[in-house]
Amino acid sequence: MTLNDLHTGDTATITRVKGRGAFRKRITEMGFIRGKPVTVVKSAPLKDPVEYRILDSNVTLRSSESSLIEVVTGADAPGIVVTPASRISGAFQRGPFVPRPGKIIDVALVGNPNSGKTTLFNRVSRSREHVGNYPGVTVSSKEALFNHRGYTFRITDLPGTYSLSDYSSEEKFVREHILKKKPDVVVNVVDANNLERNLYLTSQLIDMDITVVLALNMYDDLMARKDKLDIGLLSQLLGIRVVPTISHRGKGIFRLLNHVIRVFEGDDPDIRHIHINYGEEIEQSVQRLQELIRENPSHTDHYSSRFLSLKLLERDDSCTHLISDADNFIRIQETARDEIYRIRHLFKEDTETLVTDARYGFISGALKETMKKSGKNPGFTRSQQIDRILTHKYLGLPIFLAFLWLMFHATFTLGNHPMGWIESGIDLLSTFLRSHMAEGILRDMMVDGIIGGVGGVIVFLPNILILFFFISLMEDTGYMARTAFIMDRVMHLFGLHGKSFIPLIMGFGCNVPAIMATRTLENKNDRILTMLIIPFMSCSARLPVYVLIAGAIFPEKAGNVIFLLYMVGVVFSMLMSILFKSILFKNREAPFVMELPIYRNPGMKVILLHMWRKGAYYLKKMGGVILLASLVIWALGYFPRNVEYSIEYDQLIAQEQSPERISMLKREKEAERQKHSYIGRLGKSIEPVIRPLGFDWKMGISLVTGFAAKEIVVSTMGVLYQAGIEAEDGSSTSLQTRIRDEMYTSGPLAGKPVFTPISGFSFLIFILLYLPCIAVVTAVGRESGSWKWAGFVLFYTTAIAWVTSFAVFQIGTLLLNG
Ligand code: GDP
Ligand code: MG
Repeated sequence: MTLNDLHTGDTATITRVKGRGAFRKRITEMGFIRGKPVTVVKSAPLKDPVEYRILDSNVTLRSSESSLIEVVTGADAPGIVVTPASRISGAFQRGPFVPRPGKIIDVALVGNPNSGKTTLFNRVSRSREHVGNYPGVTVSSKEALFNHRGYTFRITDLPGTYSLSDYSSEEKFVREHILKKKPDVVVNVVDANNLERNLYLTSQLIDMDITVVLALNMYDDLMARKDKLDIGLLSQLLGIRVVPTISHRGKGIFRLLNHVIRVFEGDDPDIRHIHINYGEEIEQSVQRLQELIRENPSHTDHYSSRFLSLKLLERDDSCTHLISDADNFIRIQETARDEIYRIRHLFKEDTETLVTDARYGFISGALKETMKKSGKNPGFTRSQQIDRILTHKYLGLPIFLAFLWLMFHATFTLGNHPMGWIESGIDLLSTFLRSHMAEGILRDMMVDGIIGGVGGVIVFLPNILILFFFISLMEDTGYMARTAFIMDRVMHLFGLHGKSFIPLIMGFGCNVPAIMATRTLENKNDRILTMLIIPFMSCSARLPVYVLIAGAIFPEKAGNVIFLLYMVGVVFSMLMSILFKSILFKNREAPFVMELPIYRNPGMKVILLHMWRKGAYYLKKMGGVILLASLVIWALGYFPRNVEYSIEYDQLIAQEQSPERISMLKREKEAERQKHSYIGRLGKSIEPVIRPLGFDWKMGISLVTGFAAKEIVVSTMGVLYQAGIEAEDGSSTSLQTRIRDEMYTSGPLAGKPVFTPISGFSFLIFILLYLPCIAVVTAVGRESGSWKWAGFVLFYTTAIAWVTSFAVFQIGTLLLNG
């Protein structure tokens, strides 16, 4: 019988894990090993994947994967439970302590995803790195310096890992960091909610024989459950100092740092290097290999010979590589092969499995002696209750869609009021400047260049903050991880992985971190595929353009139009995914193993803080690249000044009586001048390309400038559409009104509005689909490791945008006229 045959609520004991390679390794690291009980929690709304309870955590598997896990239920079970008993042995004192000048302590934070490393890092370093309640938030290492009791700590926050094997790029990254950078002390951050699985990583650190202090984080949860843990004894059993911490409240952190110092200075008597006992036979193999490895002192100086031997037995290729330049490497390799063969023959089991089993045995042995569970688990029970609704079979998907709809609607409707206030503020400012500054180039630059450009973008800050609020809410509570679970089956239809969903949703905020978040995908092809379609996820920078244009042309239905645009983006990303999957990446699937963290209430303060941090990035962009771009565009549109007009406008204006005619003439004059400016000439040259899409040259220029950042489309429009024109009473009108009133002044369309519902929608579609901004292109290049992909993204998105807008405009025009 396999795990697949169980029903919701059933509990069974694992007897065997089939499958091979990376999948098997991953699955055993998550705790799916012989003798462990597993419970079926529920299946996703679309039946697949299924959520299981194992080692106090919830993990999801696809049915194709759970069919590889053999289980027995009920009465058959007790016979096969592994008894760990006296697996702890050996006590080896460390070598003499050598003090270092300067007293800098290099500390690396290592631990499972979501165990609170970044929270701890932020606390001690007072920095504000991103934390979120789903696995895989920290994707690269961050370093900070701070002082504590006369020592300088250089602390590094590393990505979360479940183990240090060869499985994913994060694991390799963390292992490399430990082996190559050789931090003085590794702080192993452990989630107290889930000691059995978290200590698996600790057991590997023990094998590596490095200096470790264990931060028993989320100790508040442990206390709330009324579980009893003998921390002193656990320290002795592991040979590692264990310090309870509650990092988000800053509790226990000083004690942790004090212990880091003590361990660093070598005056903590409980610290010793223990050996996990892997059983007589494996220990024998280890010893044989150790003897050979020790013939190379230059290697054993760097790496523990026991660690290398174990890795050889585990057939870990990149560790084998570490000693490949040893003189007796061939003999080492041969011996390893012989030993692996001997063990397999003896136990009818892979060495990797035996080693993993022994590690878990060691852990459960240590926990049996030190931990008394109360059996209560309020956090888990609460999470379970929430999940009963949010990931419900039928309700899960509709609730999620409703949430998305609410998010976009709130973004537009709630944002409208503060947007109006900011708009009037900006109007006041420009009217004030217009009437109080001397006429001339400086005034024009201030009012039309800076305020027109930057102000045009800044009014959308409220909308963007609201969007970020919802994204932070999803991230911090743990709902984000559930969406991957709910959507896995759907994503599957499009050749994507459930885990691709989180980067895609993050893309709504900003595509750059979304591209970086693809690192949580284990398979390289999945990763690139996800990167290729992320640009269709409408980022917050595109929102200002939507709000501006949709608000101008579809004032009644702007919210719905915007929601529609987001959905069109999603549809395109899915279609492209199917296409790419069938042409470019015909590969098999990566396993869906993802942890569902318990729901947390991060508190309003944290959510608002995260929202603000993202918003601050937006403001910074405004002061930098957007300001610069606005000035350049303004200058290109302002010069040259000595234009030869086709009619004597000034003379006509002087003769004219009616104010309407005057303003009309002023406008025509300005339009003609702009057409002769540098930017006008540039616009004319690209007009043939965009004319079939229903755009005029100003729209074309705006699109070109959008490559620097999508918000710049708005600031460019701000500069181009309102330059130099003022209403009769001297006040300025909002950019939205200007756009609605914009007319063609010459050509066959003269006198007709530029923005009709069709051309406007065609423009919106183009904005949605066309090339991502330069930051995203760079991110794709960096993350995919190849600039070929970056170029590809640039090209294919623009091609699709052109074709789609062409279709929208031409078909729309036909339907309307026909
Ligand atoms: P990382 O993936 O290890 O970097 O984990 P994060 O620092 O991103 O934190 C994951 C989640 O755990 C966040 O929602 C934190 O607010 C929360 N958290 C961190 N430390 C504690 C703690 O001591 N107790 C509780 N209850 N929650 C914590
Ligand atoms: Mg982190």
